[in-house]
Amino acid sequence: MKKFTRRNLIKGGAAAGVAAGTYSPLSRAALLVPTYRSSRKAVVIGSGFGGSVASLRLAEAGIPTMLIERGKHWVYQGEDSYPTVGGFIGDIDDGLLWKEPGPISGSTGMLEQYIGGSIPVGVGAGLGGGSLVYGGVLLQPPRELFEKVLPNISYDEMDSIYYPRLLSRVSGGKIPDDILNSPNYTSMRVFIENANLAGLDVVRSEVGFDWDVIRKEVQGEITPFASIGEYVLGCNSGAKKTLDRNYLADAQNTGNLEIMTLHNVVRVRKKIFSSRYEVHCDVVSEDGEVIAKRIIDCKYLFMAAGSIHTTRLLLKAKALGDIPTINEGVGQEWGTNGDELKARNNITASTGPVQGGPPAIAAFDFDNPVKPTGFMHSPNLVAGEYMQMQMGMCIPDQTSTASYNVVTDKINFNWSREDNEPSTSALNHTMDKMMNKGGGELLDVKALGTWHPLGGAAMGVACSDLGELYGTPNLFVVDGALIPGSSGAANPSLTIGANAERIMERLVAQLT
Ligand SMILES: Cc1cc2nc3c(=O)[nH]c(=O)nc-3n(C[C@H](O)[C@H](O)[C@H](O)COP(=O)(O)OP(=O)(O)OC[C@H]3O[C@@H](n4cnc5c(N)ncnc54)[C@H](O)[C@@H]3O)c2cc1C
Repeated sequence: MKKFTRRNLIKGGAAAGVAAGTYSPLSRAALLVPTYRSSRKAVVIGSGFGGSVASLRLAEAGIPTMLIERGKHWVYQGEDSYPTVGGFIGDIDDGLLWKEPGPISGSTGMLEQYIGGSIPVGVGAGLGGGSLVYGGVLLQPPRELFEKVLPNISYDEMDSIYYPRLLSRVSGGKIPDDILNSPNYTSMRVFIENANLAGLDVVRSEVGFDWDVIRKEVQGEITPFASIGEYVLGCNSGAKKTLDRNYLADAQNTGNLEIMTLHNVVRVRKKIFSSRYEVHCDVVSEDGEVIAKRIIDCKYLFMAAGSIHTTRLLLKAKALGDIPTINEGVGQEWGTNGDELKARNNITASTGPVQGGPPAIAAFDFDNPVKPTGFMHSPNLVAGEYMQMQMGMCIPDQTSTASYNVVTDKINFNWSREDNEPSTSALNHTMDKMMNKGGGELLDVKALGTWHPLGGAAMGVACSDLGELYGTPNLFVVDGALIPGSSGAANPSLTIGANAERIMERLVAQLT
């Protein structure tokens, strides 16, 4: 079993210095750790799609900003930079997972499996957030589906300005023909053929990977990773365009952004007799132990900890009376993007001994009697030679409500699989069409839960269309929590990032 033990550098933040200066078993056990204080005009919590966009645009506008990230910086330094899926098969717990830091235990892996709600949720943890662990799919939702979930946001503007703006930094483009036609991409070609025969609308998606690097893999010039299905956990050929390598690097180059990795925000508060906010963090060692505290005071607070943790931190602030003005809309409109990972076994055509990635082909089914669906072919390392996985997505019929539990410090949702039966049947209908043409039978992989949590502080419900929390001035949400449960039958990161671009363009001019 491969163990991933390499220590990663912490770049840009003060965590390394804090860790080195304050370590002592006695102080850790007793939690008598030092507290550091900082002050900035703006603080951004979380460095995923929303947080990276907000950080760059604030820093470019000359606003002194601190970005707080609970995980570490996984610096790309060649083939040994990241864990691999193959290395974890059978031993998923071995350093891969993020576990809440504490006085004695915790873990700073790059993937959190959030258990506590009524469905397991996978989220990224580390500088770059979900871009570290995502499949790289940057799929634009079709207009009619986007307008169903976000009727107040102009699709024309997103299409012509904000989607391209996000893509210009993060995307490596669509899969080129020479790579699609190479042997390791047989499964993708089978998917295209089956989807076309089934009458679906097949599109090549923009993808957050550098195809020139993948071409070198395919041509045998460098060790293959993405092209053999190892593209999720970082991607050791360097092909993955994670946010730390574009948005955050550019933001740091302005000189106006300080990045604090290994800082886990435990509380956000409005200061008494002041309009300013305080962000309370546990400073964490790479082993996941709390080694210090930091309190940062700020005028503008940007929540970008992802749908789960932005919602949790806001509901916690409400429950503890830390921000009494948090409105009733927080916790509402939470959903899973209508996600279900679908596996199809015993397909008629061979999908090849190896399935190259990243996922690059989507198929939409608008001619579906239940509702439209979107599918993303998901090549992977564990699929057999006549097997495929597909991420199925649709607009759920109803969203759920998240509630905070002060004892567990977690949120739960009243999401239930039964309530989402129409989504299952819509997705199965599309799968049936593909199986009628390309063969195979459906395998149930629902237990994996969802990777697309959305909502909890949705625009129009908890926040304005500029992300400002109703009734709580200068507190902005800029991440997936803004999107009400669905990003229109497409993977969400492109829409989350582009929406943050839309918001920041309008906001920075107003921030004094
Ligand atoms: C395995 C997997 C594959 C995926 N594949 C795709 C894909 O191919 N395409 C796609 O569009 N989407 C994909 N997603 C979903 C995508 O990653 C998310 O939709 C997207 O990253 C959400 O962006 P965000 O800005 O809302 O939050 P995130 O990207 O999740 O960023 C939130 C950040 O906040 C940090 N944070 C959380 N809590 C705290 C705290 N208390 N203190 C400090 N920091 C905190 C986290 O560590 C994280 O870095 C995938 C997700 C997973 C798990």
